[in-house]
Amino acid sequence: MQIIEIYKSLQGESSYTGLPCVFVRLAGCNLRCTWCDSEYTFKGGNRMTLDEIEDEVHHLSPDGGLVEITGGEPLLQEREVVPLMDRLLAAGYSVLLETSGERPLERVPSRVVKIVDVKCPDSGEGDTFRTENLNTLTPRDEVKFVVASRRDYEFARDFIHEHGLSSRVASVILSPAFRKDAARARDASHCLVEPQDLAEWMLTDGLKARLGLQIHKFIWEPSLKGV
Ligand code: SF4
Repeated sequence: MQIIEIYKSLQGESSYTGLPCVFVRLAGCNLRCTWCDSEYTFKGGNRMTLDEIEDEVHHLSPDGGLVEITGGEPLLQEREVVPLMDRLLAAGYSVLLETSGERPLERVPSRVVKIVDVKCPDSGEGDTFRTENLNTLTPRDEVKFVVASRRDYEFARDFIHEHGLSSRVASVILSPAFRKDAARARDASHCLVEPQDLAEWMLTDGLKARLGLQIHKFIWEPSLKGV
């Protein structure tokens, strides 16, 4: 597989936020979100076998725990990433998969927690979610919307209502987008929408969703990789 990096940090943007997690970051993405903070994944990386990846995960977290498969878009390497997820599950890890939902999700093992990042209009990739993937969501999965404006919020709100998301999945999360050139200050000044505004919109509409902040951007320098 083509791998950008494997590292241990804290899970930063789901209901698993704050837990130790090994991240396996795959190379390549077929989208180009305007606020993407992972452009370094678009090309390059190193070829690694499934054995090498599993060994590295075990080295970083020998006693099991959380492993997140992320990217880029991990499902561009579906032929290898599906067996990798099976192997990690069999080795006793809890596996999270971060995906845009643009690729089919049918072959993702059912014990994997899918964290599906449905793209809102201001990402520039707003029409990319594959609606058929809704049928693959289970009560263990999560759906996330990264919100950069009021328009994005209204898209997320209407999508949640239209598809009854709150009763389909474990968690629906709205998260303010960060400026991709965010650096130095570890505070909400880098958010493209004020967290307070987003919170108030959600409360006003009684939205059955949670507000998520990308905690790694507040703990570490926002432009750092591998955290
Ligand atoms: S899907 Fe993720 S990695 Fe790909 S461009 Fe969008 S934010 Fe970046």
